[in-house]
Amino acid sequence: MSKTQSTSREQRVASHSHIKGLGLDDEGFAKEDRNGFVGQRAAREACGLVLQLIQSRRFSGRALLLAGGPGTGKTALALAIAQELGPKVPFCPMVGSEVFSSEVKKTEVLMENFRRAIGLRVKETKEVYEGEVTELTPAETENPLSGYGKTISHVVVALKTVKGTKQLRLDPSIYESIQKERVTIGDVIYIEANTGAVKRVGRSDAYATEFDLEAEEYVPLPKGDVHKKKEIVQDVTLHDLDMANARPQGGQDIMSVMGQLVKGRRTEVTDKLRAEINKVVNSYIEQGIAELIPGVLFIDEVHMLDIEAFTYLNRALESTISPHVILATNRGLTTIRGTDNEPGSGSHGEGIVSPHGVPVDLLDRCMIVRTLPYSREEIKEVLGLRLKVEGLGVKEDALDKLADDGVRTSLRYALQLLTPASILAKLSGRTEITLEDVGETDSLFLDAKSSARMLSQLGGQSQYLR
Ligand code: ATP
Repeated sequence: MSKTQSTSREQRVASHSHIKGLGLDDEGFAKEDRNGFVGQRAAREACGLVLQLIQSRRFSGRALLLAGGPGTGKTALALAIAQELGPKVPFCPMVGSEVFSSEVKKTEVLMENFRRAIGLRVKETKEVYEGEVTELTPAETENPLSGYGKTISHVVVALKTVKGTKQLRLDPSIYESIQKERVTIGDVIYIEANTGAVKRVGRSDAYATEFDLEAEEYVPLPKGDVHKKKEIVQDVTLHDLDMANARPQGGQDIMSVMGQLVKGRRTEVTDKLRAEINKVVNSYIEQGIAELIPGVLFIDEVHMLDIEAFTYLNRALESTISPHVILATNRGLTTIRGTDNEPGSGSHGEGIVSPHGVPVDLLDRCMIVRTLPYSREEIKEVLGLRLKVEGLGVKEDALDKLADDGVRTSLRYALQLLTPASILAKLSGRTEITLEDVGETDSLFLDAKSSARMLSQLGGQSQYLR
């Protein structure tokens, strides 16, 4: 189950791969088409200010609320803030309705996502062997017990640096790590001296292409001896640690090692386990081995949360280890879930109406930023960016039609037409999307507004679609 969840999380981020940051200049003004962002300048500049508050540690206990129509870039802004905070800063997107699951408590879902959004950077100085692999030979011997079949007795790995080559004779267990990291000749790797963990750093030709071959600074390989001390930085999230310790694997890679923080046999993540992990993590931080990297927790459709979840959220924001929380909604004044007489809510009142369906005490903590609908030109530009990222071609009239669709419906809808339209183009043996492809895709799918209109027209007749 966790696998499917994480895939959909990745997919949610994949449609934003053209976004690389907020695209602001040194004075904090939004630049046109910088870092993949088009338009939405006021919101980007406001997010830039929030970013400064976060960076100067004046944002704790607060949250950012992005309010605006569907497809106006709320997720993109939240992701951009995470990117601006630095590389490997966790970004955890979720949707308010995710908390309603038949198996897991609401607060548990929120807690899990909070921990997904908190990173831990573990720094260790280790003795390693590092260099370019010039030889990789598993030495096989006949298996003396069975009389047939061979076993690996040791592995010969030769590592080359500018200072020379060293041949290492290594334990057969190393072979598994070498295969897992897909190490081949020409890769630059390091092997941890005491654990034997193998890490692929890159290709030696990557070093060659990075530098001008003629230039003096050309360094084909890391300088120094094969055997050296190296600072190794690993990024994990608190959720990774929870999972690894709930189901310890045993082994030498980082997650297995981090999965042995807490002793004892466990099968699931409990509050007790989390508390124990926090304790170990805190001691790592005190010793200077680890550093907390608060990331961004993005809760889309926050009006879907109910009063119980909001109470939890309010409390979690107060915690000393909290990620930066960004909420988003496209609702105006609406009833806070769980305060009306919804079946199962347990309350029988009229329901409390609040801006964005968010209780006032949480709203008080929020800085609210509005996102505005896009112009036709802006939609066209974003479409152009996505086409480029996805390596798709398009005819001018087809792009115009897509932009018109975007104006009529939303940017999101127009972007979603790209993939099916490109499939239609490919099926007809073309590399460019034509007007016909867009027309056909358009006729096959309904945008949200037309779909809602159709449903409301049908509404009087029947509750079911026919
Ligand atoms: P929803 O409320 O439906 O979740 P949203 O407001 O979060 O929508 P996004 O998902 O951020 O909207 O935007 C939809 C798509 O458009 C994404 O692929 C996003 O990267 C892209 N996009 C949105 N705004 C911009 C922009 N200003 N510049 C470039 N790309 C954008």
